[in-house]
Amino acid sequence: ADRVAPLDLIDVDSLHSEEELQIRAVVRRLVADRVRPYVADWYERGEVPVRELAKEFGALGLLGMHLSGYSCAGASAVAYGLACMELEAGDSGLRSLVSVQGSLAMFAIWRYGSEAQKEQWLPAMAAGDAIGCFGLTEPDHGSDPASMKTRARRDGDDWILTGTKMWITNAPVADVAVVWARTEDGINGFVVPTETPGVSARTIKHKLSLRASVTGELVLDEVRLPADAVLPTARGLKVPLSCLTEARYGIVWGALGAARDCLDTAIDYATTRVQFDRPIAGFQLTQAKLADSALELEKGYLLALHLGRRADAGALRPQQVSVGKLNNVREALTIARQCRTILGANGISAEYPVMRHAANLETVLTYEGTSEIHQLVVGQQLTGLSAFAS
Ligand code: FAD
Repeated sequence: ADRVAPLDLIDVDSLHSEEELQIRAVVRRLVADRVRPYVADWYERGEVPVRELAKEFGALGLLGMHLSGYSCAGASAVAYGLACMELEAGDSGLRSLVSVQGSLAMFAIWRYGSEAQKEQWLPAMAAGDAIGCFGLTEPDHGSDPASMKTRARRDGDDWILTGTKMWITNAPVADVAVVWARTEDGINGFVVPTETPGVSARTIKHKLSLRASVTGELVLDEVRLPADAVLPTARGLKVPLSCLTEARYGIVWGALGAARDCLDTAIDYATTRVQFDRPIAGFQLTQAKLADSALELEKGYLLALHLGRRADAGALRPQQVSVGKLNNVREALTIARQCRTILGANGISAEYPVMRHAANLETVLTYEGTSEIHQLVVGQQLTGLSAFAS
């Protein structure tokens, strides 16, 4: 009998406009041409040509894609989600590059910046000529950023920033860092050109996940910034959290891309790999794994699309993004692990994408709010009780 692709089982394409499908096709082609042939090598070496890729992504309008004005593409949330899905089908590290650039660094400036900050940074960042990073996490403060130690104090009109940010995607290659720091009036955001004296970034080595992404420690040692370096309308922790909601929305879609690539690979493999004189795809246990994986992929897709349509209607709430992130990353990881078993020994090789995706998804489960934190967000919605703090 003819084979049907997992997402075609329920005809998800029928839920999209022509324009959405076109954007998806363009990003899929980019990933096929510019990512797939090289990504296993980048991953193994732990090196990725971020600048080159950023320019290519920028040329296609993928950076700050869902923002409007300042040379941004002004695409819908659903189109942005589809782009994230295709990028992450290549590798979670490349979707991370686009998420951090567009949804964290650019969004922070676009939403909370001054006109001068927007003019200075957004067009260059949309083109991929300037790389941004977003410094919230610290060595001792991850899930609880409200306890951050990084401080900004006034010296005349200037600001002096001191602190250390940890696990910052793209910090070692960034031209500009959006840094969150405590001031006398609570938490504020600062736009910090990385060439400013006192700013340094060390690459974090020995990662066993997200190796096709540059991650760094960002050190701010008495960094002197002009008065206008502060994001004027960013006051309080809810501001960086609002940026994370933007990026998390992309993850809701992106994780499904990694899962889809694992499932496509496993189905291809299982239909050609013969054991006991039969393709392993003909064994019931293999089919059960494939069927259950396809179901979770489809359910996750419908959830992502629903959240995307809510976002495009201007009605998406952060807690709803938590539902999507928790479910879709957790299920994507389960799918990746199941698919890994179907490939047998080949499942652990970088010759196939499955182990790489599975290892990447461990990071995706943890960053942008851990799965536990999102469980607590959903738990609080259901009970009205916060289980976070003592
Ligand atoms: P912790 O907060 O120490 O958590 C450890 C464990 O305790 C987790 O299982 C957690 O769920 C659990 N836990 C904590 N509090 C509670 C609670 N109240 N109830 C129940 N369980 C709890 N950060 C940035 O700011 N910018 C970036 O660009 C960035 N990029 C990253 C890239 C990579 C590759 C990685 C791995 C991380 C990145 N991060 C970034 C950091 C990431 O957001 C944090 O790792 C994440 O928020 C978790 O913080 P933590 O690692 O300190 O873990």
